[in-house]
Amino acid sequence: MVEKDNTIMTQNFIHDFIDEDIAEGGRYAGQRVHTRFPPEPNGYLHIGHAKAIYVDFGTAQKYHGLCNLRMDDTNPTKEDVEFVDAIQEDIKWLGYDWEDRFYYASDYFEQMYQFAEELILAGKAYVCQLTPEQFKEMRGDVGTPATSPYRDRPIEESLDLFRRMRAGEFPNGAMTLRAKIDLASGNFNMRDPAIYRINHLPHHRTGSDWCIYPMYDYAHPIEDALEGITHSLCTLEFEDHRPLYDWVIDNISCPAKPRQIEFARLGIDHTVMSKRKLRALVEGGYVSGWDDPRMPTICGLRRRGYTPASIRNFSEANGVSKAASTVEYSFLEHCLRTDLDNTASRVMAVLHPIPLTITNYPEGQSETFQVENHPKNPEMGVRTVTFSRHLFIEADDFMEEPVKKYKRLSPNGLECRLKGAYVIKCTGCVKDEAGNVIEVLAEYDPESKGGDPADGRKIKGAAIQWVDSATAINAEVRLYDNLFSDAAPDAAGKDFLECLNPNSLEVLKDCKLEASLAEAVAPASFQFMRLGYFCVDNKDSKPGAMVFNRSVSLKDSFKK
Ligand code: ATP
Ligand code: MG
Repeated sequence: MVEKDNTIMTQNFIHDFIDEDIAEGGRYAGQRVHTRFPPEPNGYLHIGHAKAIYVDFGTAQKYHGLCNLRMDDTNPTKEDVEFVDAIQEDIKWLGYDWEDRFYYASDYFEQMYQFAEELILAGKAYVCQLTPEQFKEMRGDVGTPATSPYRDRPIEESLDLFRRMRAGEFPNGAMTLRAKIDLASGNFNMRDPAIYRINHLPHHRTGSDWCIYPMYDYAHPIEDALEGITHSLCTLEFEDHRPLYDWVIDNISCPAKPRQIEFARLGIDHTVMSKRKLRALVEGGYVSGWDDPRMPTICGLRRRGYTPASIRNFSEANGVSKAASTVEYSFLEHCLRTDLDNTASRVMAVLHPIPLTITNYPEGQSETFQVENHPKNPEMGVRTVTFSRHLFIEADDFMEEPVKKYKRLSPNGLECRLKGAYVIKCTGCVKDEAGNVIEVLAEYDPESKGGDPADGRKIKGAAIQWVDSATAINAEVRLYDNLFSDAAPDAAGKDFLECLNPNSLEVLKDCKLEASLAEAVAPASFQFMRLGYFCVDNKDSKPGAMVFNRSVSLKDSFKK
């Protein structure tokens, strides 16, 4: 009996089926659970794929089984080596390992062909010469069976034509090989589906070896069977195809009998998830690439500062079921925030800087403070920040004429803390000729080092972050919002490009960050105190020209 580890993935209906299958007397009694993740290499993986990866690899892990990675490249038109490499990188980054079991569906073309001849010889497949238009016309409808005048042609004739299809004697569309199943079936997928079509297009791996290609519904069960897959987990749109999957497995002499189980796709609001649409965003220049931090791709989320744990936790929390659902984007953000809250160092940064001069602090003097990297985790240590007469603060932490309840700096004399340093009191400001505030003036209480006044008086103002102008670094900071302002850009009948949010990216140059960030490299993440979680951009940031991305704001808009 294979032992089960329940600490990994929460039990779901798929696991209930698997438990039955591996129990004594079950269809896979005594066998090791074996799954696969079969991406089509025609684009980058997205957060929906991350869920499928979680289900495929996570289920194998739970049962101490195996999970293969298979490029589903039976379609000759679209595959690209760039995508194959990126898919592998993304899966590894998510924390999964296919070990030495990396396959291409195209490696099985010869076996698929042999199985097709086997079907023909058994009278279970025939070459049909209906044109695509005739094929459609003769499909029948709910009450009327489909028809084909070629259905009862002699086996020898089909075999001969099929071999000549392979040899390249016929143009695209001239004929197909059809499985002989049931022209009257209520399930149209069973009405003698085409299992091979002619396509004179070179394939990225097999070159011009083939001009006939197997259809997905025929190829997929064979791929699974040849790899000894026990459980072929896929999304719900394949449910109506399962009878055909089983038919193929039952009618060829394949070495194993995999079982297909379907679960609901993951949908997220304010984004699109189909590769076709994501590609259109990239090719149309609406985003900077597949890894634009606003994209729902794995590489985009990575660049945005998402951690593998946050994505796995998101998949786990959403559960696995047959009920289609759309998850709020803010829940994905919630999962990231929860992870970063535990792991990200707290640092000080000022995104809209304005100079603050401490007028009673001597010019030329400076001192240092030891500050904790994490308030709840002493193991993360301390670091040093410098302090001097000239600082930067956030422009909106000063108001010359404060609104009601304003608890920050203004000439009204309210005392505020400079986080971890001193108590200060604003004394005024300096303006340019146009009347804009260009400098804030304040006095500090020398008896409040560390932020608490020696006499114990209550400080009513806020604790604001600051950076020392003598040591601050300049950085570019990119703020992101939803790529789509419409909550459902994927909905039928909508032009998703019309749903784009024109303000999804705001670039701030000349932000001031504390000096400790000068050496930060991706994938480092930080909490910029009072501002949010930010990560080093993994592409554009360089020492001396740092670029940070806002991963997620501090405030949680997700309602539990
Ligand atoms: P897309 O529609 O985005 O192009 P796809 O299904 O054509 O996706 P594949 O590369 O064929 O993309 O997908 C590989 C696996 O990932 C399949 O088993 C598919 O069911 C699964 N998958 C794709 N999108 C989602 C999703 N949104 N939620 C869960 N699983 C998904
Ligand atoms: Mg697909």
